[in-house]
Amino acid sequence: MSIKLEHVNYIYEPDTAFPVHATDDVSLEIHDGEFIALIGHTGSGKSTLIQHLNGLIHPTSGTIYYNGKNIADEDFSMKELRSKVGLVFQYPEHQLFEMDVFTDVCFGPKNLGLSEEEIEQRAKDALEMVGLDESYYKQSPFELSGGQKRRVAIAGVLAMKPEVLILDEPTAGLDPKGRDEILDQVAWLHKNSHMTIILVSHSMEDVARYAQRLIVMNKGKVMFDAAPVEVFRHYKELETMGLAAPQVTYIAHALKERGFDINTDVTTVEEAKQEILRLWRQQKC
Ligand code: ADP
Ligand code: MG
Repeated sequence: MSIKLEHVNYIYEPDTAFPVHATDDVSLEIHDGEFIALIGHTGSGKSTLIQHLNGLIHPTSGTIYYNGKNIADEDFSMKELRSKVGLVFQYPEHQLFEMDVFTDVCFGPKNLGLSEEEIEQRAKDALEMVGLDESYYKQSPFELSGGQKRRVAIAGVLAMKPEVLILDEPTAGLDPKGRDEILDQVAWLHKNSHMTIILVSHSMEDVARYAQRLIVMNKGKVMFDAAPVEVFRHYKELETMGLAAPQVTYIAHALKERGFDINTDVTTVEEAKQEILRLWRQQKC
């Protein structure tokens, strides 16, 4: 699986007095099995960009290839693309509507015209993947906690057996416990099912902890596309875009300025802890 974007531009309301250039000459390639985080200030074009990836919107100009095939070609199957590239919208719980959890998760695979047996098996597998056991099957989705509702919505997409899972700010509005549950589950999926993950996030801490590759957007353009540790070295430029490096990276820089021989590439609390312990042991000797 690969998705390639070449010079993708998207303009909302192009024929009006106020066209919005939401993605501006975006070129990038997404490879099989990657865990990518997409970050950027509100309005930077993240949601617009990801909607291109499963053909929900089409570029105003530019080309998108899925496994080398131009998705604008007449013989390209959009239906297949939509089932292979699963998109979980922001606040996906707003789209739950069935009477019970199980029926809701069956909705997508039902539309694929599969057998009853296959539909139920997919729903069971998907609910297991998000950590919801049989005791949830007959519950109304509306009576669940915020984090659980969101997991049901994610299961609905997983039941389509996508190769790529795109999550648009899946932790927005959740408490820290709900947030960690969702992200740990996504990390588990990436590790165990080898699904390609694209996580739209606001949190540099989450990005540093989970993603292998970080794409930073600003005003519709891709500003950085590299490993998180590499991107966070540019923390001063990130600040000009209303972003920042993880807090521990700032602490490392502050210690360095005070004369400590610390590695300023730390981006997670665990890395910072190891680095500070190393310094502490060195000073004791
Ligand atoms: P992000 O997800 O990074 O917050 P969006 O992709 O939602 O950014 O928005 C990018 C730009 O496009 C913003 O200026 C936003 O106001 C504009 N925009 C988004 N959706 C629409 C729409 N349906 N109609 C007009 N403008 C839109
Ligand atoms: Mg958005």
